[in-house]
Amino acid sequence: MSELATFRAETRAWLEENCPPGARGPGQVPTGSTKVKIEDADTRLWLERMAERGWTAPMWPKAYGGGGLSKDQYLILLEEMRRINARAPLMGMGTSMIGPTLLEFGTEDQRQRHLPRIIRGEVAWCQGYSEPNAGSDLASLRTRAEDKGDHFVINGQKIWTSGAHFADWMFALVRTDPDAPKHEGISFVLLPMDQEGVRVRPIRLISGASPFCETFFDNAIASKDDLVGEMNKGWTVGKRLLQHERSGIESLAGGRSRDASRRSLSEVAKEYLGDDQGRIADPMYRANVTQYQMNSEAFRLTQRRAVEEASDGKTPGPATSIFKMYGTELQQQRSSLLVKLRGFRGVGWEGEAFTEEELEGTRTWLGERAASIYSGSNEIQRNIIAKRVLGLPD
Ligand SMILES: Cc1cc2nc3c(=O)[nH]c(=O)nc-3n(C[C@H](O)[C@H](O)[C@H](O)COP(=O)(O)OP(=O)(O)OC[C@H]3O[C@@H](n4cnc5c(N)ncnc54)[C@H](O)[C@@H]3O)c2cc1C
Repeated sequence: MSELATFRAETRAWLEENCPPGARGPGQVPTGSTKVKIEDADTRLWLERMAERGWTAPMWPKAYGGGGLSKDQYLILLEEMRRINARAPLMGMGTSMIGPTLLEFGTEDQRQRHLPRIIRGEVAWCQGYSEPNAGSDLASLRTRAEDKGDHFVINGQKIWTSGAHFADWMFALVRTDPDAPKHEGISFVLLPMDQEGVRVRPIRLISGASPFCETFFDNAIASKDDLVGEMNKGWTVGKRLLQHERSGIESLAGGRSRDASRRSLSEVAKEYLGDDQGRIADPMYRANVTQYQMNSEAFRLTQRRAVEEASDGKTPGPATSIFKMYGTELQQQRSSLLVKLRGFRGVGWEGEAFTEEELEGTRTWLGERAASIYSGSNEIQRNIIAKRVLGLPD
């Protein structure tokens, strides 16, 4: 048996034995936040077991507690998780954004302090980039960090900080040289959220949820040991982190595997529109669902191809904008389709007349309007694709 075939056989056996029934199919995926309890025992057990093996971050080096898997082994792990419908054991900005960034730009001390805690699911991170007057034009940010020798003192405001009220740490872009040209006076720092100088105020959305916050810094402290990359060169680090965020490739890792945590479209469609010998009874919706499933599968395979083609399995560069743009548009198509095929049951807001799944569906549909805005709006992604991927003139 080849080495990879042995790995597959061992992985399959290990997953069968160690993935508890409650971690298969729909359910919670922990973020690592110390402020959010994991209610379900199987979900907790699954996280512990996968973390112990380093498979919450399968390709990170073993030295930091990662799985140390090669690209090929990692793809096998994904396939085997999919086969048993295993949910991701952990998700969030730790594994998908700041972790890979620290592996590229962090000091050995930063990696040793932060990566093992991310892998074990003991810390949740948030992203302090956007400000009231710095969104698409992010380099206009004004949050100021003053150099005080062994630490920075930070003053200013961030906005739309997802999960700031549950986060333990933030990675932030701050201005360290107000006199330099705007892209050149920015630094990338890490700071703990639980300190006197940081205050968060949740923002309420049309969906009824408050997934993000305004974040205020009033003499907040970031240690100099937590400056990532060089002083005033944070723009390069910050842009690379966005590529990790936009790639969605981590989702392939089961890092955010949505497929396992929800019912398939055709299953839902058959429930509402009828089952005609295994097919969705309504021919128009059958065509719509099939089209969606084909696009979704093609997208998944394209992401997989990107992993296979990258020589060391690393996130690609500007091409990640394609994944962000197409992936979020697909997401929106899915939730709109669900609303349509459920008829009036697809727009329930509250009350016993609707199931929990239906109420959740309405909120997801509204909440996903935001998907083409966050992580850089899809118009900005189209600009990047035009300029940096296709090489079109400005
Ligand atoms: C749900 C959600 C979560 C978020 N989470 C975070 C987070 O955790 N951390 C964080 O830092 N930020 C976060 N954001 C902020 C997000 O990154 C910004 O909203 C986004 O970059 C757009 O910036 P803006 O809102 O200031 O809009 P603007 O930049 O004011 O843009 C307004 C409109 O103009 C268009 N536009 C602007 N410039 C151009 C251009 N050059 N070419 C073509 N069109 C253009 C935009 O596409 C948009 O339609 C989040 C946003 C949302 C909705």
